Amino acid sequence: MVGTCPDPGVISILAKLPDAVLLADDERRYVFANSAAAELLETPVDEIVGRRIDDFAHESKLEAEWSSFVDQGKKAGPFCLRTPAGHVRYVHFNAVTHLMPGLHLSVLRDVTAEYEAQLQQQQNQRLSELALNAAQMGCWHYSLLTNQSSFTPVLQQLFDFYEHATPSYEDFLSKLHPEDISIARNLISETLLNGERYEVNYRVICRDGACRWLIDRGEVLFDSARNRIGISGVVWDITEQRAREQEHQSRLRDLARSNLDLQRFAHVASHDLKEPLRNVCALSELLSRQSAVKLDEDERDVLEMIVSSAKRMATLIDSMLAYAKSGLRREFVLKPCSSREIVDDALSNLRLTIEQTGAAFHVDDLPVVMGSRSDLVQVFQNLISNAIKYCSGEPEIYIGAQRQNEVWVFSVRDNGIGVEAEHREHIFEMFTRLHMDDYPGTGAGLAICKAIIEKHAGRIWVEPAAPRGSNFLFTLPA
Ligand code: ADP
Repeated sequence: MVGTCPDPGVISILAKLPDAVLLADDERRYVFANSAAAELLETPVDEIVGRRIDDFAHESKLEAEWSSFVDQGKKAGPFCLRTPAGHVRYVHFNAVTHLMPGLHLSVLRDVTAEYEAQLQQQQNQRLSELALNAAQMGCWHYSLLTNQSSFTPVLQQLFDFYEHATPSYEDFLSKLHPEDISIARNLISETLLNGERYEVNYRVICRDGACRWLIDRGEVLFDSARNRIGISGVVWDITEQRAREQEHQSRLRDLARSNLDLQRFAHVASHDLKEPLRNVCALSELLSRQSAVKLDEDERDVLEMIVSSAKRMATLIDSMLAYAKSGLRREFVLKPCSSREIVDDALSNLRLTIEQTGAAFHVDDLPVVMGSRSDLVQVFQNLISNAIKYCSGEPEIYIGAQRQNEVWVFSVRDNGIGVEAEHREHIFEMFTRLHMDDYPGTGAGLAICKAIIEKHAGRIWVEPAAPRGSNFLFTLPA
């Protein structure tokens, strides 16, 4: 244990100290090390003695450090060691020269764990600063212990704080729009005293007098004993986002208003048109009955054309009315309803057509969905009657549903004439018909389906079915 060390009394005291104790001569060669030093340097005591400080030092400026130590007679501070196994140790040392003539004492305390934790904390802080800066977010902190506030550079810039060396919490409040000061102050103070988190929007007045909207989200900081020690907030600029949202909201309001106006107009127009049309139908029929003998064949044909055109117009007006109603209905409430019962209702409404055509149905297990029951009966009824109608042979129809994340995807698939790719979008527009002469209809059925499904926040579209036919698909909230 002892090399050339002369005083066994001193040595036995040093040997028992819990900190690492080392004695070195003028050549920086160790003459004594205690067992704590052996543990620190991961080297047996008799292998330390005889070796030089330089063998364990991880520092590059040891020569200069040693000279200043010798000149001053003592030194204290951090030091970095490296064990023979290559492990780096951070220590805090206190050293004095000439404890005994020509022998210099250093006492080392291992602070590696604390140092690395501090390093980690600094790195984490740096990373969060990087993330905050990249997101153009600022951060502020108020300490209850020191009564001081700090602001990161982004926030200093947002608040125009460059002229203040260390802005205070009051400086921060004074930059806010007068109407927002008390809201922000009360919320932050209240959170600091009684709460844990807060979120507040406020305006800051810039140097040029313009206002910027900021969002400030913060939380109270506690020590390990759950004592409140401060509060920190993250702040970012939402001026542009807020302007976009406001514009979007105002457009939505305009759109809703103009949609409602249009629907009202369609409703009133179609409703009022029915009355004179009924008269045209009735009067032309009366005329054709009363004057049948007086009219020649051509005149009778013309009259018949007038009657049939008027009837067709009446059907079109009915469709328009149904479409306008599908958008106007106010008591639109989404309730859980069995889609199997909805399909059964639609099938029962179409019983006569099904019997006449001999259409065959395959219906899978169907789920309960959130929807407006009567509207959904209308959707299935329109799709099923089209599936029957647009078929050249014996209609065979499959109805099913599949869950996809937050929605159910329903499908009504037929073996009919199909829809060509270029028409698959616009058949959902009002009065669009592809087979005017071959099949009866008004071109309103799919437009009504679309309006109803969109009111359910869903989507409707058509795909080709294999080997032939169409597959109409739509989504409903699960
Ligand atoms: P309508 O059937 O009264 O003409 P719809 O709005 O229901 O009106 O349909 C629009 C058009 O889409 C139809 O005219 C038809 O050309 C086409 N269509 C609709 N359903 C089918 C189907 N199942 N198969 C083939 N074509 C269809």
